[in-house]
Amino acid sequence: MCDTHDHQKTNPGLGEYPAFDECVRFHGHACPGLATGYRAAVAAMQALGVKRPYDEELVAVAETDACGVDAIQMVTGCTAGKGNLVIRDYGKHVFTFISRDSGRAIRILVREQDNPERSVMDDLRKKVFSGTATPNEQSRFHALMHAATDRVLSLPQHEIVEVREVQASPPKKARIFASVACSCCGEPVADAKTRMIDEKQVCIPCADTLARKIRTAER
Ligand SMILES: [Zn+2]
Ligand SMILES: [Zn+2]
Repeated sequence: MCDTHDHQKTNPGLGEYPAFDECVRFHGHACPGLATGYRAAVAAMQALGVKRPYDEELVAVAETDACGVDAIQMVTGCTAGKGNLVIRDYGKHVFTFISRDSGRAIRILVREQDNPERSVMDDLRKKVFSGTATPNEQSRFHALMHAATDRVLSLPQHEIVEVREVQASPPKKARIFASVACSCCGEPVADAKTRMIDEKQVCIPCADTLARKIRTAER
């Protein structure tokens, strides 16, 4: 999650891949995290020699759920909805891309950036998000964020990411589940995602509520 406002600078993008601006429109603002995801996605596509796929032949595994994931979805076509984007939030800026076609896998590690302004930015961020920043501090914060975003977009690729060929097999393809009605709320729910509570097949939120009630009753 992050924290800057739109910036209007245009970026032409890299070759045949969607431009950074398209990612900004999708994500809602420009930020260093989004820019990093953009560089990671383009590096992976180039390493695998693929253009944007419209099917499930490319699979991405993201080890973070931060801003960069939106650029990954935009550039690679690996999306949460298609099931070829898997988020395993280990809090690491690492993305693995697996081509089902070639069987090749690329692991992208985002390098830690030297940013002499980081502590200033962190202090300003706290003020901006607690609503205590002066107008001057706000514009200073946004200027620093924009500069950091532009830096990520303009540095040579090897300074931003490390690209490694690895052995990895893709997670299983998205399965189609049969739909059943939850015995508690009546809403349709995928069969495989239901829980049995008191011999009733219920959805996960209802299962949680029932489990809470049972615990309270036992007290
Ligand atoms: Zn962001
Ligand atoms: Zn339910």
